Amino acid sequence: MNQVVINDTTLRDGEQAAGVAFNLEEKIAIAKFLDAIGVPEIEIGIAAMGAAEQQAIATIVDLNLQAHLLGWNRAVISDIQASIACGLKRVHISIPVSAIQIGAKFQGNWQLVLQKLQDSLNFALDQGLFVSVGGEDSSRADEQFLLDTVLAAQEWGASRFRFCDTVGILDPFTTHDKVKKLVTSLSIPVEMHTHNDFGLATANALAGIKAGALSVNTTVNGLGERAGNAALEEVVMALKHLSKIDLGIDTRRLLEISQLVATASGYNLPPWKAIVGENTFAHESGIHAHGVMQNPHTYEPFAPEEIGQERRLVVGKHSGRHLLSNVLQQHGIILNSEETQSVLNAVRQESTQKKRSLTTQELLSLVGVKQ
Ligand code: MN
Repeated sequence: MNQVVINDTTLRDGEQAAGVAFNLEEKIAIAKFLDAIGVPEIEIGIAAMGAAEQQAIATIVDLNLQAHLLGWNRAVISDIQASIACGLKRVHISIPVSAIQIGAKFQGNWQLVLQKLQDSLNFALDQGLFVSVGGEDSSRADEQFLLDTVLAAQEWGASRFRFCDTVGILDPFTTHDKVKKLVTSLSIPVEMHTHNDFGLATANALAGIKAGALSVNTTVNGLGERAGNAALEEVVMALKHLSKIDLGIDTRRLLEISQLVATASGYNLPPWKAIVGENTFAHESGIHAHGVMQNPHTYEPFAPEEIGQERRLVVGKHSGRHLLSNVLQQHGIILNSEETQSVLNAVRQESTQKKRSLTTQELLSLVGVKQ
């Protein structure tokens, strides 16, 4: 089997999230971090957007990272020229492929869409660029039209095809069927680009890879348009543990890059966010905490260290005597059975009142009161 590669688009689709704007320093930091953990390809922006974006792209190109850098373009020659002016050697050319998109953007004139693709592709190839072609709204496209379009792009010299589930309406089974048909008909690799409108972006990306796609777009924290994209940390860890595909990425820094991008985006993640949420290795309930203390595999799918996270035993409303004693012992406090029960009752009362678990300090001061 050929190697599956991540093509991370935090700096393009991720930044397109409503209310998100990275500054130059943040873009540089994110690009460097992605490169440092071993992401082999990064989509870094849209040169046609104007001077500030061009400056950011050119600055990232000048970093001479290991990763291949890609710029996003419409099928417009001036877009490609703007990408070239930034120093990019790889371009992605996006065309709409569904009736609804071609109707809205090209008055239904699909011949014009194909003509613009051929012209811009030829121009890019003449400049010696690597060209990826993307089918916007591939998931809702007529399957025969999609196949004919991709075969034409391949014939004209495209090096890869991006299958976009632009509005996130596929499920993993349909994704597998559609991508399998393309993969078996094409000689160029297929790339997955999935959106999370129904919470299936990561699942659909995995389904596409299972069907033979060899490249996958991700964003850190799943940042992106509307409900976002397939999350880098989820795709990497799910491929590693569920599909047994190790991409060679340094997973021990996934929490760190998640925090970097969360800060740059200005939004906190929910504590239960898959892989990198602050609760993914926190245990409060008596039964779970007791199990984890016996053997972490009871309630953890993998070791927290693998993503740079730490296990936390949290005392709160659902905690039991065993967990409470264990946490107190870590602070050198040993209580008899009666005292333990009394502290536990106080913990339950206070965490119900506060609607959260207790901090270590709060717990210790409760013990002080009860002793
Ligand atoms: Mn997208």
